[in-house]
Amino acid sequence: MSLVSPLLKRVVYPFLANAGYLRRRAGNSDLCVVTYHGVLPAGYEVTDPEQDGGLLSAENLARQLRLLKSQYRVVSPEDVLLWATEDKQLPRKSVLLTCDDGLLNTLTDMAPILREEGLPCLFFVLGTSTTQSSQTLWYEELYLLLLSAPRGTFFFDALGMKMQMGDRKQRRILWWSLVKKFSERDQAERAGYIEAARIQFGLPECPSAGCKNGDANRRRFTLLNINELRQLAEQGMTIGAHTLNHPVLSRQTPELAWREISESRTILEHAIGKPVWALAYPFGDAEAVTSREWKMAEQAGFQCAFMNVGGGFGARLSRFALPRVHVTASMSLAEFEAHVSGFHRDLRACLTGERLYIGASA
Ligand SMILES: [Zn+2]
Repeated sequence: MSLVSPLLKRVVYPFLANAGYLRRRAGNSDLCVVTYHGVLPAGYEVTDPEQDGGLLSAENLARQLRLLKSQYRVVSPEDVLLWATEDKQLPRKSVLLTCDDGLLNTLTDMAPILREEGLPCLFFVLGTSTTQSSQTLWYEELYLLLLSAPRGTFFFDALGMKMQMGDRKQRRILWWSLVKKFSERDQAERAGYIEAARIQFGLPECPSAGCKNGDANRRRFTLLNINELRQLAEQGMTIGAHTLNHPVLSRQTPELAWREISESRTILEHAIGKPVWALAYPFGDAEAVTSREWKMAEQAGFQCAFMNVGGGFGARLSRFALPRVHVTASMSLAEFEAHVSGFHRDLRACLTGERLYIGASA
């Protein structure tokens, strides 16, 4: 797939988009859900295209929204709730906008664009956003820490493992293996591990401390606090849950995973004074989410829950594993439409034999 990707992006998708094939392909399908992660704040310089790759430029987001408005039907989260719970029919080619994590830029940079276009969005935020202080995502803290560590070999006593600090690519691989390992513990233990690693690396302070310096950095890295979360809700945006702390749920004990899922609903409902009926699973792929989490979401009282893979029109729609299109900054408008239409997903399945199995039942 990686060899044909440039050809698809530069030639095939633009041709199919210009010919109108992609929007015709959506046909009579019900629903496509897209996932954003926010907007690059003005003045913020991208330093790591992979880590910042989920954040779109303001112009790029506006272009995508205008395309959806003109060729598809952007529906409200409440329309989707009625569709999921009461079988109320959605218009043809319905698109639901969602945005994960609740970074500050969703309020300061993304919501103004949505309001200007008159579009609703379902924002999935963390339990962390119900506190007065502005927190950062623990796995981003860990990533910044690994990037800042000196080269060499370090022994990590707490986990009984050796860490080899090499080039950026190697550190990224190490980062993901640590994200999975750290997810097995609760948030306090995770914070302890990150602090222990900082001391091992001989760093005077956690590099994420710098994320709170300056307006652009704060918008990029800090999560909404409770006042900012309430502002987002008061603007008419719908709030959903994204767990308490964003762990890889499948790596957790049943007790920890249940707490992350069920308490995020109650704590957020209390914070905004409105029902929280939707959940987005953190990381959201088949490795991070299993049928155990689908059942927990239902038992915790959510009305539907969302993956972050397998999206696009024509996907199999299962209420507690609804597929979504993960939008990245590097997508051209034609590529975005190839994902929305379901063409990219189906082509990928054809070329790789890979089947994105989502959901056992409706
Ligand atoms: Zn997330």
